Amino acid sequence: MLFVMGAIFIIDSATGYEIAVSVFYAGVILTAAPILSRNALMVLSGTCTAVTLLSFAITAQGDYRAGLVNMTISIVSILMTAHLVLKMAAARAAARDAQARLLRIARVRSLEGLTTSIAHEINQPLAAVVTSGNACQRWLGQDPPNVDKARQGLQRILDDATRAGDIIARVRSLTKGEPPRRLAFDFNEAIREVVDLSRTEMARAAIVLEVDLNPGLPLALADRLQVQQVAGNLLLNAIDATALVPPGRRTIRLISARDEDMIVFSVRDSGTGLAEGVRDRLFEAFWTTKAHGLGVGLSLSRTIVEANGGHISAKSNKEGGALFWFSVPFQDKEPACQS
Ligand code: ADP
Repeated sequence: MLFVMGAIFIIDSATGYEIAVSVFYAGVILTAAPILSRNALMVLSGTCTAVTLLSFAITAQGDYRAGLVNMTISIVSILMTAHLVLKMAAARAAARDAQARLLRIARVRSLEGLTTSIAHEINQPLAAVVTSGNACQRWLGQDPPNVDKARQGLQRILDDATRAGDIIARVRSLTKGEPPRRLAFDFNEAIREVVDLSRTEMARAAIVLEVDLNPGLPLALADRLQVQQVAGNLLLNAIDATALVPPGRRTIRLISARDEDMIVFSVRDSGTGLAEGVRDRLFEAFWTTKAHGLGVGLSLSRTIVEANGGHISAKSNKEGGALFWFSVPFQDKEPACQS
């Protein structure tokens, strides 16, 4: 390629202004396009334009005006070719991306994919059942056995198992397109339950958690379990993103507040943040940047929040990390009783 460029340069400089050999640089760009990256192609087009100008400057013979016109035509064709080649590369990348998403959809439609999505939702209560079960075994194995503690552990097992069952029932009703069961509930209490399920994971990842739940909130009017699913998903994503930054800089802040006629819950993390262009794709189904991600969490969250009469959104933090928040309507003007 360098040889061809050199030959073009020599012929262009040695011949008169009227002979515009530099237009062949467009051919060089076309030939190099399949093997060069986007940046390398831009550098190549810049180099071709620069050597065209250089040839013009050192050409000593011929009609200067004709040379000027020819040089302009050459430069325009070099830049147009580069522009078209870059556009084609972008279109090819988009087609590859669409193909990858189709594959993912095909996978999720398979039995394995379906199992993974359900597992994604019920993993937390099941993990909690195992933890409580182990604790029960220890309490019963003590001499004398700590029956009270074991009974509390059993109650937690029952609660978590019921929750897992409820989630499955709710996943089934979602696929059947049933509307959410919107009842009044204490929003902060529901959030605390979700947070408690994630504490072990956050401690393991050395994440500092700040919880700022406004005690004066009215009762939320939404499907409690669905709201918990959304909050849990935002929290899990925040944990994933935060675990990728060095320990000591890992914080997650949860805030509940009232904003006019809605309750707003936000999850602010100090994680990897949202790269440019990512924000538009976050809520797309099957879009993920994680090796083992499914990309269904946020799209499902949006469906759920909107079915409950709220909104969900995200943006980058100025100090780094991401900020996700969603809103749900409330029922009363009176504050909820605090637990
Ligand atoms: P999954 O977690 O399976 O990838 P999601 O729909 O929950 O699916 O998330 C989609 C993508 O959004 C993630 O792969 C990640 O790139 C991005 N994302 C979600 N939450 C965050 C966050 N808190 N910080 C940075 N990126 C995030």
